[in-house]
Amino acid sequence: MPDIVVVGAGAAGIAAARAIQAAGVTVQVLEARTRPGGRAWTDVRTLGAPFDLGATWLHQAGENGLTQLAEGAFDHDTVRSHGCLVDGRPATRDEMAEYDAAYGRFHPVLAAARDGAAPGDSAAVHAPRGGFWDATVAHWEGPVICAAPLSAMDLRDFLDTQLGGPNLLLRGGVGGLLAKLAGALPVTYGMAVERIDWSGPGVLLEGGFGRIAARAAIVTAPTAVLAAGAIRFLPGLPGNTEQAIHDLPLGLLNKVGLRAAGEDRLDLPPFGGLERRVEAEDEAAMTFVAWPFGRDHMMGFLGGTAAWDLSRQGPAALLDHAFSELSCAYGARAAAALRREPALASDWGNDPFSRGSYSHARPGRAEARRILGRPLAEGRLAFAGEACHPRLAATVGGAWASGLQAAAAALAFCAQGGRA
Ligand SMILES: Cc1cc2nc3c(=O)[nH]c(=O)nc-3n(C[C@H](O)[C@H](O)[C@H](O)COP(=O)(O)OP(=O)(O)OC[C@H]3O[C@@H](n4cnc5c(N)ncnc54)[C@H](O)[C@@H]3O)c2cc1C
Repeated sequence: MPDIVVVGAGAAGIAAARAIQAAGVTVQVLEARTRPGGRAWTDVRTLGAPFDLGATWLHQAGENGLTQLAEGAFDHDTVRSHGCLVDGRPATRDEMAEYDAAYGRFHPVLAAARDGAAPGDSAAVHAPRGGFWDATVAHWEGPVICAAPLSAMDLRDFLDTQLGGPNLLLRGGVGGLLAKLAGALPVTYGMAVERIDWSGPGVLLEGGFGRIAARAAIVTAPTAVLAAGAIRFLPGLPGNTEQAIHDLPLGLLNKVGLRAAGEDRLDLPPFGGLERRVEAEDEAAMTFVAWPFGRDHMMGFLGGTAAWDLSRQGPAALLDHAFSELSCAYGARAAAALRREPALASDWGNDPFSRGSYSHARPGRAEARRILGRPLAEGRLAFAGEACHPRLAATVGGAWASGLQAAAAALAFCAQGGRA
């Protein structure tokens, strides 16, 4: 019997298991999928170069526990130029200056509103509106970066989880890094945990695989998976923990990977960004980053309500949409410059082990991250993952740090004799 079982081999689970192993305590990781990395997953075959279908950048590199572990195999602050279209034509220099100014105003306006805001205010309540670029800024800050509209997010949580640079793009992908870090861990794949009995002195985990007993368990399944009841707890979780799970839903961000068909690089430099002005925050506008590391593929992103709407039609619809977005910018040149096959499109919303991309706190529920991250039964049962980190939520860095915290709690519980 292992001392500690970790449910899930994503960033949080890998961090926790490594810390437990390093402390000389026995650990077993149970992963439902047939691969490690969770929402960090690098495809190395389809496009002829590593392509991250999930986590893409190591944000906030200075405080990100994965930066050192990446051992220099990255590039810094990687979107080097921003092309922005207005009604299908490139924005003028003056328009871009106005755009930058609108962006520059956004965070200070929200930060200034913080103290006077009502407890249930969403970020949308205080966001600037009405200006030529305000909806475009809101589109970036909501659906593109946070995977959800500003109206769905608590103002304070939105401010507390803001990310700055440097942002690192990894040559071998974030999923590639996590797979490497999981390499020496005792992970068993295809083990979906369905029930955790924590009524006795230890824990008993059950699923199609049978039963595994341990002294303590760390659960890293995404909040949307927990909210759907995929894992039943006996006894049921305390009311505030259960509520916290529901207060941290996952937004949706999906990605496409498109490979160049020939020499045409659509006038975009390596690491060049492409976006368009929108009239409304929730427009189905996609953003693109071209030719990372000089490779011959582009990545495209669609987030928020529009991403959920399209995900009901499956990943092929997202690819069609990416081509239609690019044809608005380049006309028939887009279809000639980029291959329709092979291409990649993620489908995180329909994946039963993620059910979305990353979390935000519902308006008025900023405390939920701290509540969910608080170990239960003195560390015998702990939750970890991106949703539990009050500062680096929604990121692999936050998931990693949260996994380390949960491991410390479980280790302390075992060190005390393991009874609570
Ligand atoms: C498209 C996209 C882009 C992103 N971009 C970035 C980015 O640029 N930078 C960044 O830092 N972050 C980004 N993120 C977010 C980042 O991927 C996540 O925050 C992070 O990977 C979450 O790690 P985690 O360990 O909390 O959860 P997960 O990675 O989801 O790990 C949980 C694990 O639990 C497993 N599991 C679920 N249910 C069960 C069960 N019942 N039994 C056993 N195992 C189970 C899952 O299969 C999974 O492996 C992005 C995410 C997406 C989807």
